[in-house]
Amino acid sequence: MAEPLFIDRTIRYDIVAHCNLSCCGCSRVAPFVSANITPLSQFKNDLIFVSKYVNFRTLRIIGGEPLLSKDICSYLKFAKDIKFAQSVSLFTNGALLEQQQDEFWRLIDKLYVSVYPILKDKLNLRSIKEKADNNSVELIVDYSNDFFEHVIDYPIPTGKMIRNIYVACKDKRFCNTIHNGVLFRCATAPYIDEYLNKIGYNANIRFLDGLRLEEARNMTAKIYSYLFSDTPLNCCQYCVGSTGRKLKHRMLSKQEMSNPKRTKTMENSLSKKALWFGIIEENFRVIINRNVHVKRLLKPLLYLRRKIFFKGGRSPF
Ligand code: SF4
Ligand code: SF4
Repeated sequence: MAEPLFIDRTIRYDIVAHCNLSCCGCSRVAPFVSANITPLSQFKNDLIFVSKYVNFRTLRIIGGEPLLSKDICSYLKFAKDIKFAQSVSLFTNGALLEQQQDEFWRLIDKLYVSVYPILKDKLNLRSIKEKADNNSVELIVDYSNDFFEHVIDYPIPTGKMIRNIYVACKDKRFCNTIHNGVLFRCATAPYIDEYLNKIGYNANIRFLDGLRLEEARNMTAKIYSYLFSDTPLNCCQYCVGSTGRKLKHRMLSKQEMSNPKRTKTMENSLSKKALWFGIIEENFRVIINRNVHVKRLLKPLLYLRRKIFFKGGRSPF
């Protein structure tokens, strides 16, 4: 069998669908999905299957809130052993970090903690930092004060608008996700049915949008063309991706949780500025990628931008 194809991207594995917070604007609509933890056997099968065909730069264990799995170390241990990606990182809101055993800290390379205002005074970041340092874990702390509109509760009116939003959407590159035996191009796609059904649709688009991880001819080519496709997903009809308007971060009220239907319009969900910047950036990126020399010249600048974007002044360390 041929060597697996290396894809220079991060791939997420959502091991927990639900969350212990209920952020308004959660791109994964985690506050509205039923509690579900991917069985360890499914996680193992998926990684074994995909690693036969492709490898990634980073495997990101994420959720919902991944630390809601009491067996998190078994997932991390398997992910490290199988060498599915060059490194293994974990994303968390930090609420359950203090409860983790020493083994947890030994199994991760990189830890991202999104500190939301509701947890800001409750997290002991000094102690988290100490544990990370003692275990050579790269710690990235992000203070997430702003959120953005993402999933909307009415279909976007025109195909042209869906296409423009898709072109500008960064999630299709940064949020490729595996969840329970299916590969998805973004982190919204696995869960949108559950949200739409809660607000009165009879949606069944999850399997139209995902690529099932089961044996088929030319699987490497299938995975590659699925991940790099120019065609919007079906769920893009109900999502403004990374072009949503800014929202102040807050928890949803009990009433909003039980009745998520909102009365927003396209005008107050979409940021035109984010849309046009996104389209320009995407076109620019395509041109750079086609030209190897320009790409090489710009690489240090892009690296610097990524560092500043994730860390710049926002980490207390
Ligand atoms: S912590 Fe993350 S996954 Fe949980 S509700 Fe907030 S944004 Fe969604
Ligand atoms: S716009 Fe489409 S690709 Fe982007 S996050 Fe939404 S559903 Fe996913």
